[in-house]
Amino acid sequence: MIKTVYLNGKFVPDFEAQISIFDRGFLFGDSVYEVTTVLGGKLVAWEGHVERFYRSLKRLKITSSCDRQTLLNLHRQLVQLNQLKDGLIYMQVSRGVAQRDFLINEKVEPSLVLFSQEIDLLEPSRLNRRLKIITVPETRWEHRDIKTTQLLAASLMKTEANALGVDDAWFVEDGYITEGTSSNAFIVVNSKKIITRKIDRAILAGVTRFSILEVAMQLGLEIQERAFSVEEAELADEAFITSATNFIASVVEINGKKIGNGRIGSTTLLLRERYLTEIKKTAI
Ligand code: PMP
Repeated sequence: MIKTVYLNGKFVPDFEAQISIFDRGFLFGDSVYEVTTVLGGKLVAWEGHVERFYRSLKRLKITSSCDRQTLLNLHRQLVQLNQLKDGLIYMQVSRGVAQRDFLINEKVEPSLVLFSQEIDLLEPSRLNRRLKIITVPETRWEHRDIKTTQLLAASLMKTEANALGVDDAWFVEDGYITEGTSSNAFIVVNSKKIITRKIDRAILAGVTRFSILEVAMQLGLEIQERAFSVEEAELADEAFITSATNFIASVVEINGKKIGNGRIGSTTLLLRERYLTEIKKTAI
């Protein structure tokens, strides 16, 4: 059955409601949502939901143009338009449509979506369900090895770093560097020892990381795949990041401390030269 939904200022039939593939909610998980129960056509615990909704928006620094009363009216209108008795209203605000970039542009206009679902919430067999569960390790979200579009934390960090006047950030876990917001992290010691974290679920297995290590091997450099501390990074002779579109990019300052002499290091340059030659040869 066709239902009415709400999308950016209009109530429309569900099949007409379409959102851009460039919406940051789709590309970065850059959005927040609420689900409010509807019982007998009335909203349950509305204050709690709207309160949390604005709290979530504030944390992401998304500015919604809708005030509380407007959101309440939208919920009530949707209940009415769909003749909803029991079920839920789903509401989502995403940061909006922008060029794909980890760096958030302040001028993005948020998208607002609401839809309803009918559920027989008070049905006795539903109320009397007897659930069986298992326990699992808490891994929300520790699988950085999977290249998912759950990129919000990385995007927020890059934007924060930018606001502080630097280009990017490296994540630290238990005192050790994991990787950059969208790149792998490396340090060089004594011009010949390359250190980068080994592949596990703490980091993404960068394709460029792998190629750079291969080039390093060909050049006879020593490779250590292990975690390195923030202090070790700050004291390194060179540091760099790798990613598909950055190739290998020199890092010359970490936490305000100059790396080496503040110029692109000789090993980084050598790796870049060989890497560029290699990829031009092997690209298909
Ligand atoms: N780590 C993260 C978190 C990334 O997002 C990326 C690039 N998307 C990389 C590492 C680098 O991977 P690749 O060299 O395959 O681009």
